[in-house]
Amino acid sequence: MRTQLTDDERKYFINEIKRLVPDLPHEIADVDKTALFWEDKYNSDNGILGSFDLKHPHSINLSPLGKQMPEMLVSTVAHELHHKWQFETLSIFYFFMAIPGIRQCLLEPTAKEVELAVDKLLGLEDIN
Ligand SMILES: [Zn+2]
Repeated sequence: MRTQLTDDERKYFINEIKRLVPDLPHEIADVDKTALFWEDKYNSDNGILGSFDLKHPHSINLSPLGKQMPEMLVSTVAHELHHKWQFETLSIFYFFMAIPGIRQCLLEPTAKEVELAVDKLLGLEDIN
């Protein structure tokens, strides 16, 4: 189930992201303008930490693991916000580029790049 972060959760989560990554890449800077949802289907068993869903393009979904450990989700937030930025930039073309198979070649590489850049800022580049 998808539940919007409470005001307190959102404030804490965003403050943590800004504390951890003071030099915010533009993708993360957008977090202030984005609705954030917990998706309780995402957990450590399936390893899914977040998603950007075309049905709700003004928001991103995050694993509730971030309630206790926002630091786990910082690079995921960057990755998913990059997809949101791609959607806003590419508009209708995003739908074609999001077709499975094409998506991996056209949308994922730069999102992964952003994610790794944030991991590097956090000193986590060795875990990927
Ligand atoms: Zn992705």
